[in-house]
Order: sequence, then C-alpha cells, then structure tokens
Amino acid sequence: MSMSWTLLNPITPNNDRGIESLTSFVTRVAASHLVRTRSLLRFVGNVYSDQNAISTHWTTDVASLNGLGIVAEQTTKLIGIATGAEGLRRATFANLKNVVPSSAHGLLYRNRRICPACFREDRDCDGFVHDRLTWSFMPIDTCPAHRTPLVDKCPRCSSQLKYLAQFPDLGSCVSCRFDLSTTRQSFASPARVARAGYFSHEVEELVSRHEPLAASGLITYLNQMNALGVSFQEIAEAAGLDKAVIRDWRTKKRRPRVLSLMALSAAWGVSTAAILENPIEAAASSVRQDGVIDAIGLGAGNRRAYARTNHSEAKRILTEIEENISLYTSEGEIASRVGIKAATLLYHYGDRLKVLSEKHRRWSREMRREQTMALVTSGVNLLREWLQKGVHLKRIEFVALLMERTGCTKTKAKHAYTDALDLLSEP
Ligand SMILES: [Zn+2]
Ligand SMILES: [Zn+2]
Repeated sequence: MSMSWTLLNPITPNNDRGIESLTSFVTRVAASHLVRTRSLLRFVGNVYSDQNAISTHWTTDVASLNGLGIVAEQTTKLIGIATGAEGLRRATFANLKNVVPSSAHGLLYRNRRICPACFREDRDCDGFVHDRLTWSFMPIDTCPAHRTPLVDKCPRCSSQLKYLAQFPDLGSCVSCRFDLSTTRQSFASPARVARAGYFSHEVEELVSRHEPLAASGLITYLNQMNALGVSFQEIAEAAGLDKAVIRDWRTKKRRPRVLSLMALSAAWGVSTAAILENPIEAAASSVRQDGVIDAIGLGAGNRRAYARTNHSEAKRILTEIEENISLYTSEGEIASRVGIKAATLLYHYGDRLKVLSEKHRRWSREMRREQTMALVTSGVNLLREWLQKGVHLKRIEFVALLMERTGCTKTKAKHAYTDALDLLSEP
C-alpha cells in the first residue's frame, strides 16, 4: 500500500475471487465513508474540478460506469487518484475501447446482477461482499463457479437490483433490506454454465492487460490465417459468422462486436487477447491444431474435446444421429455421442439441433401413441377373456389386472379402461 496521503480511504479493489467492477468499488468506498454513493462521486468530481465528467451519465446510464466510454475512464481516473488504488482500469472494459464499437452494443447488461453464492463465499473469506465485472457482461447470465443463474431482482420484494444505490450496501436489497446472499438459487443447464465459464475467462483476461488492446491485431490474425491456407469463408463459418462480417473487419468498415470476437476465439482455439496481442502466433496455433479446421470447441475447457472432433466429423455424426433419432432421449445424449460438450454443440449447431429435437419430439409422440394403442388392445383382450367367463370386470379390478399384466401405471390403466370399453361396445 502506498504511504502517501489520499483524499479518500485507501481501499483497494477486491480481485481475489473474480475481478471487482467499478460500480462495486465505488459503492464500497462510499460505504467506508458512511456517505451516499452519488454524494461521493459528486464530491470527488468537485474536488478535481471535473464535475461533468462523472456526474452527467451515471444518473441516466449507470451501467456505463463499468464500460469503455469516457464516463468509465474519467471515473476510474478520479476514484483511482482519490483512493490511491492501482490497476483500477481492470474494473471496467476500458481495455476494449479501441477494438469494439464505441456504442459498445451487446457489452453491458443494463441492470445489476449478482450471484448470491459468491456473496456467501465473500462473507466466509474476508467479509467484503463485492460485484464481479463479469456479471455486467451481457452474454454472461450464469455464475460458472456455482453453476447458478445470476439474480437481478430481490427475491422478497422483486425490486430491480441497482448499480450505485443511494445506500451503499452491496449485500442487501435497497428497498426491503433483504440479505441477498440468502437468495435461493436453482441450477443452470450445463450448456449455460460452459458458456458463462468461457466468457468469464475471456473477459478477465482482456481486462487484465496492462494496456488497452489494439484493433490491428485482429486484421493481422485474419490475414495470417488466410496466408496459412484457411479461407475467409472457413474462418467465418467455424465461428458461426457471415463471411461479409469478416470482410468488413478486414477493411475496417466496421468494428467487431465483443461477442463475435469471442465466437471467433472460441472457434479457433485461441483467446481473444491472444488474437489481438500476438496475432501471428495465434494464427499459427489455430492452424496447428491437427492441421485441419478442428476447432469447434467453446474455449479452454473444451480444447481437448474438440481436438478429437473436427468440423466435417461433427457434421457426419449429426447426420448419423438424424437417421437414428429414436435412439436418443435428449440433446445432452446427442452431445455426448458427438463427443463434445453440449455447449459447443448448441453454440455451433443450434439450428440443426432444433430440427433434430423437433424430430425427436415427433418420434416420441408417435411412440407414446403406439404404446397407448397397445395398452388399449391388451385391455380389450382382458375384458373379453373375463366376459367369456361371464364376468363384467369392475374398473378397480380391471386396473389391477392390467397393471399386473403390462406393468403400466395406474393412470394409464384407468384411461385404458374407458377406451377398451368404448372399443368393445362398438359393433
Ligand atoms: Zn457464484
Ligand atoms: Zn427487496
């Protein structure tokens, strides 16, 4: 810690369990001074005679504080000076300001979101609850560590969670004081967890770079890939992007959206930061992976998995699955047959899978219908057998006998009774 005098308490961002966001840090600084968050920001702005810089936007678009625009930059600078906190740029997406469109479309989720389980962990570790920057990244809707969906409303009073709430307490609902760490959570699907894990890792790597990243790396990467024998069409296709998008990036007609960049990185097995910083090596590494376009994985955790499977192989297997759709009961099973994670499959073959699962649903509807028909036929036989003995089976007797004979459920046996009677009474 620096020994020099600071205007505000010399608090440091908490980056031990995920990088802390700027809105979270500002809130904790305000809490340490027992003042409202916005009073703190106004005060800092006044002291450094930079009133407009940080106060005009946070009233209308608070989320942008964690972004990559001028508001984020100014606030980072002033709060950094005022607290002496170093490396505060990591608390925002400022590192991407030269890379993605300045509108930052698709970057920030509008409202504050949290993971209650992370808060419990914070309490157990050092007592300081804090928001992670990754929670404000729009494509992330799940905490990969706890495999649970992020929460953006108070579970008790349903108020939206807010950035820079007047009362500086990150751990409670500002409206009803509910302790957010006690929120009950459900579990997210493996696909969502895998995606969130990949994106979290990418975000943390990008914001941790000491200098803002340059856009030129992307163009070098694309051209180098091409020089190594991969067509732009193939580059685009693997990432689920349109070829025109890749062309526009190369000609600087438009800047890449963060999500598209990450799709490219996921598809080609190198991190987004590597593409931007070391494009030549990144391209070599992308192409080296078995020397073919085998990159259909979704990030670090899947690298080994997709090394086993390349694009054409995956397509071949999907066709095979299509022909034997009746053998599969879920998308997860299909994914494990292909040998790659469900997330990967959904990510790259979402449309194809939709068709497959619709086909599967139709098939299982048909199966159910056939099973019902078979049951009713057994029921009719049963009724006939007893009629020949001169006995009209009561429903309760019929149900017991049919369950014994076919192993069906009680409900199904009851339905079969009505249907079998109808059939029997037909001329
Ligand atoms: Zn968590
Ligand atoms: Zn509440």
